[in-house]
Amino acid sequence: MVRVRYAPSPTGEIHIGNARTALFNYLFARHNKGTFILRLDDTDEKRSTKEAIDSMIRDITWLGLDWDEGYLKGGDFGPYRQKERLDIYNHYIDILLQNGFAYELYYTDEEVDSIREEYEKTLKTFSYRKLKENETEERRKSFKEKGLTPAIVFKVEENKEIVVHDLVRGDVVFNSNEFKDFVIRRSNGLPVYNYATVIDDALMKITHVIRAEEHLSNTPKQILIFEALNFSLPTFAHISLILAPDRTKLSKRHGATSLGQFREMGILPEAMFNFLALLGWSPKDNREFFTKEELIELFDLSNVNKAPAIFDFEKLKWMNHKYLTQTSSERIYDVGTQISLDFSKKPKDWWLSFIDAMKEHFDTIRDVERISLQLFEKYEIRKEIIEKLKEYNAKELLEQFMIRLKTLEPFTIDSVLALIRELGKGLKIKGRNLYFPLRLAITMKEEGMEVHEFIYFIGKDETVRRLESVLEVLNA
Ligand code: GLU
Repeated sequence: MVRVRYAPSPTGEIHIGNARTALFNYLFARHNKGTFILRLDDTDEKRSTKEAIDSMIRDITWLGLDWDEGYLKGGDFGPYRQKERLDIYNHYIDILLQNGFAYELYYTDEEVDSIREEYEKTLKTFSYRKLKENETEERRKSFKEKGLTPAIVFKVEENKEIVVHDLVRGDVVFNSNEFKDFVIRRSNGLPVYNYATVIDDALMKITHVIRAEEHLSNTPKQILIFEALNFSLPTFAHISLILAPDRTKLSKRHGATSLGQFREMGILPEAMFNFLALLGWSPKDNREFFTKEELIELFDLSNVNKAPAIFDFEKLKWMNHKYLTQTSSERIYDVGTQISLDFSKKPKDWWLSFIDAMKEHFDTIRDVERISLQLFEKYEIRKEIIEKLKEYNAKELLEQFMIRLKTLEPFTIDSVLALIRELGKGLKIKGRNLYFPLRLAITMKEEGMEVHEFIYFIGKDETVRRLESVLEVLNA
């Protein structure tokens, strides 16, 4: 039975990389009819906040990930917050100490830091082992008298080869000399990530650890702890980094970096789901659009790519655009309301028909509001536009158009367009000479949405009123 976990450290908004890790775990669990667990790595007291936890839950739920066991859900292997598991961690620390796999270190963090600095200055290699060897009985006594607790250090066998069998990267070989002894419980009593994660993964019977590549170098240390405690090893899969198209670290200037920002921007969750699934994974063919069910059906760790995944914001927008064209106007309106778009200027029906007609032009849901703004701008005759209209000799065109528009039935986007075309034929005016003067007269702008759409959305009466005022000036 497959059991996987997503174990975020809730210290801020969920980053796109973590969202992708969560998604891969979810897809793998669902594909294998296994269990997806949500665990909180919240031992960093200062940085783990309630707000961060809540926003993480909101955002992964928005993305469409649900979990079977863990935080807020419970289960047989809880508690699922590291903060609430300190007794468990301490229990295994005792076992490691008893069996000689770890030792107590009677130095405060500050002392360790200053000794380390000293060593670095004199180019000596720092090691906890040396510190331990020089530790005196006197030091231990005074430490205890002051009520201080020793840190716990894991003993690493020298020159030991450790192989990480990784489903994505193949066998990765490390030598224990690369890292030496390391702290597993700080003097403040809190376990460090590498230790707590092993205890949790083992006791929660995690079968596959799927996480970001940046943790690959932690894995040999974790393997040593698994072995020391006689726990069986999970299978590891380290998924590649996510880079920007310029191959630098993804940052704000590449669009946005957190899931919440994309939601606020008006990306649909199903587009995000689809897009993230393809960040580092691809099915055998080059298909790009998948429903959640299809992704669950197809997802496989063996098709996860070793090379860094490239986060292309333009591609996300393009994908979102495609999704929007297939989404009901009602839903777009609802999502727009959730991200506080200003729909107050017109009734809902108006917006629904606006969205229906304009869908092809939206990359994000914010575009609904952005594109509509031109319709609500104050209309004022501008001298330079009047001059342009004179250059185009547009009087007759505008007059004729106005007369015919008044009686146009039915009044639809298509009928307005047909009217313009027909008029063009009659007056023998084509292309820019036809559409541009109409645009200038009706919008007082040189660019904007298609003029027939514009006319439809400001309405017949408003268009006639505008044309009358332009003609008045032209006739003066
Ligand atoms: N809390 C760690 C992180 O967010 C978890 C890493 C792991 O999955 O082991 O990076």
